[in-house]
Amino acid sequence: MKILQTIFNFLYEILLGCRHERLTRPFTLQQQTYKVCLDCGKHVFYSADTMKPLSGREVRRIHTRQASELKVVAVATPVSSLNRENNSRAIA
Ligand SMILES: [Zn+2]
Repeated sequence: MKILQTIFNFLYEILLGCRHERLTRPFTLQQQTYKVCLDCGKHVFYSADTMKPLSGREVRRIHTRQASELKVVAVATPVSSLNRENNSRAIA
């Protein structure tokens, strides 16, 4: 009977999502606000403005917008290593 219960829970989660009720408080990391289910670890995304759960469509739209943003990141290059390369070329 335990196997049937496991199969039922698996199918229930696929069709209807997580049914656990033990969730963390909403928190924001890397511009995403969500709660985490303490039983299965699933993220339940929230709107930081309305503090209501987001639909799957809204979550996909936000992820698409964040993925399409152009990010410029400065790369730190040690100056001393560049000088060494230049000196070795000058000698050779
Ligand atoms: Zn869960």
